[in-house]
Amino acid sequence: MSDLLPGFLAPWAVFAGVFGLHLLLPARRVTGYVRDEHSGELLRYRLNGLLVFFVTLGVWFAAGRSGVMPWDWLWQHRWSGAAGALTLGLLLSAAVVLTAPGRGGDLLRDLYLGRRVNPRMFNGRADAKMFLYLAGATLLQLNLLSFAAHHFLVHGGDPSPGIVLHVALFSWFVCDYLVFERVHLYTYDLFAERLGFKLVWGCLSWYPYFYAVGLWSVADLPNPQAPVWLGVVATLIFFAGWTLSRGANLQKFSFKRDPERAFLGLVPRALSDGERRVLCSGFWGLSRHVNYLGEILMASGLALGPWLYPLYYVALLFPRERDDDRRCAAKYGPLWERYREKVPWRIVPGVY
Ligand code: NDP
Repeated sequence: MSDLLPGFLAPWAVFAGVFGLHLLLPARRVTGYVRDEHSGELLRYRLNGLLVFFVTLGVWFAAGRSGVMPWDWLWQHRWSGAAGALTLGLLLSAAVVLTAPGRGGDLLRDLYLGRRVNPRMFNGRADAKMFLYLAGATLLQLNLLSFAAHHFLVHGGDPSPGIVLHVALFSWFVCDYLVFERVHLYTYDLFAERLGFKLVWGCLSWYPYFYAVGLWSVADLPNPQAPVWLGVVATLIFFAGWTLSRGANLQKFSFKRDPERAFLGLVPRALSDGERRVLCSGFWGLSRHVNYLGEILMASGLALGPWLYPLYYVALLFPRERDDDRRCAAKYGPLWERYREKVPWRIVPGVY
């Protein structure tokens, strides 16, 4: 129990630290895409996500380096940590929704989807949504580093390159979000969603713990000795996805700010009804949501890192089954034919 409580409270402490840093550290001030509900003015934001992120990582690094906290402390306390984040997410979701005036609808729906659109704190110094994304991203990165540290502590003699790759790609994913934090102001969650369980619990609990599930499941395992080409394929898929997703989001960002401005040297083409305009060239000419395809490809590339272990067996055993099947057919002749007819599936019953 004495060990569970620090783990439980660790995410609370990280989020409090991130919030304090976000308020105190210098930030650039930008105009967003969303308008204030009452005044109709475009909202202004203080953005310093990347700085807050690196200062927090620096604190984690200093604690590990000085021996104040084992490198894999968050791994050791991952279950109590996830429980703490889940609880805090639930409490804050309820607080954010229940302290806002009702919208005349179903309470459960309000609890899930929220009531407030873009709540701000400390006189606009912090935007709730942008803080939540920053907090989730920072704890996710700390979890990834701590889980990987655990792998190195246990299997340091022969660590898995798949785990290193996974952390490297995921770090890219998180840093990319923070580098382009401003582009996030133009996305769906900012202009179309309210602040309820989905966003609050999602950012504080789901994001930092579920997104780390790949590493969670393999950090304790030894190096599967997977072939290098699987890592190369994972990396290529990830960056193909990143190109689509980041490219599309940046192109839309550029278009919304100036519909005439060329993006990557290409003048935008748009459909218009005389009043509104919809971009239909470049990434937005490939499909109506090619950025979602990019996100799915990135996630697939990330999953392939930890999944190198099972994929390695797929790569190894599927061709071997074919070879062995040929060998048995040659050896057993008609008997093998009868066996094939009676048991038609090669490896996965009912599928293959
Ligand atoms: P979009 O960035 O696609 O935003 C949709 C909005 O963009 C529309 O409502 C419309 O709003 C505008 N729009 C759509 N098509 C066009 C067009 N052809 N021309 C001009 N404007 C258009 O979706 P999201 O905000 O959901 O996603 C943004 C990114 O975030 C994506 O890459 C997505 O994959 C990623 N994402 C990542 C998640 C994660 O957990 N990692 C979770 C969810 C999303 P308007 O009224 O402004 O015109």
